[in-house]
Amino acid sequence: MSNIKSTDKQFVAGTYGRFDLVLTHGRGSTVWDEDGKQYIDLATGIAVNTFGYSDEGWVTAVTEQLGKLQHTSNLYYHEPGAKLAEKLCTRTGAKSVFFSNSGAEANECAIKTARLWAATNKGAEYYHIITLKNSFHGRTITTLAATGQDTFHTDFTPLTEGFLYAEANNADSVEELLKSHKCAAVLAEPVQGEGGVMPLTQGFMESLRALCDQYNVLLMLDEVQTGNGRSGHLYAYQSYGVTPDVLTTAKGLGGGLPIGATLFFEKSHGTLKAGQHGSTFGANPISCAAACHVLDRIDDALLSEVRAKSEYIFTTLTGKKGIKSVSGLGLMIGIETEGDSSAILKACMERGILPIKAKSKIRLLPALNIPWEALKAAVAIIAEEAEKAL
Ligand SMILES: *Cc1c(COP(=O)(O)O)cnc(C)c1O
Repeated sequence: MSNIKSTDKQFVAGTYGRFDLVLTHGRGSTVWDEDGKQYIDLATGIAVNTFGYSDEGWVTAVTEQLGKLQHTSNLYYHEPGAKLAEKLCTRTGAKSVFFSNSGAEANECAIKTARLWAATNKGAEYYHIITLKNSFHGRTITTLAATGQDTFHTDFTPLTEGFLYAEANNADSVEELLKSHKCAAVLAEPVQGEGGVMPLTQGFMESLRALCDQYNVLLMLDEVQTGNGRSGHLYAYQSYGVTPDVLTTAKGLGGGLPIGATLFFEKSHGTLKAGQHGSTFGANPISCAAACHVLDRIDDALLSEVRAKSEYIFTTLTGKKGIKSVSGLGLMIGIETEGDSSAILKACMERGILPIKAKSKIRLLPALNIPWEALKAAVAIIAEEAEKAL
């Protein structure tokens, strides 16, 4: 075993099941391992490296900021934070933004906002938050409670109280909970990523909006994974035409640097007051400069390219021998195979492509600017290996 693997195994807490691969450097959608073997990256560090590895424009934006201010604390104003908030609001219609460092933190902020909003506007007993079964909202105790999958809860109880779980794509199941409990909010991912790349239906998203209005609760969308162009729209809600009251995002926003954002629309704007929430590293200037660059590059041309690439993957793989189904939105795709997906994934790695898994599906989360040639080569290999595994 290489020195890096054995050192990692000995000294890094064993919370991750890693692939047997040490990555050393990358360029765009190409990444190399310690033996010099080259791969087409199809996972972007779980939807994080929006423009792949060491993208030139991104590196310039980050290094320019590095030479100015790396951190200020939130006791002072700084340009990258103010500009990023303005860009996010301008492009979504949100009124204000809270910055943190991860998806879980962005969701924690949304949850605190929902509790405070309900306590202020409806009464403190309206603390329940409805999430969906099979969802994923993070790894802190509260976001685990929000995550509607029992396997994540075992042995970590007692979790934060007040979460209720409805069936995805079943509006009646949501309404029953809204009727029977005093609620503050509904929290949902437009596409359940970790749950197996399962999109919510158009009808269900519209019902969620209508129900949240009817019962006067906040509609909060977790776009940690679907956000920042991944869906083929800047944010996935825009593809449904259903505007949330709170939106959370993280993963791809910084293009590879840690940042989380909670966006407040009209109904939730101004809920959190001075002193009620904070984060030492939140709005880190370097992460914000990186995110400004990422957002500026996600324009209509790039988004239509993302949709075209998505369409290509769907049409090429749907109905192919060995493939049961293809699901997802934009460049967030789940492939259900007839044969064992772990074996297919291993064969893919041997042939120089790096997809990952979501439940038992093969999951693709390539860079939004993955070259066509690389994408076509990778999709061909997946099709071949899925058929071989029959
Ligand atoms: C990854 C993810 C999270 C958690 O984000 P972290 O940055 O790992 O805390 C939350 N929600 C969704 C939908 C995610 O995909």
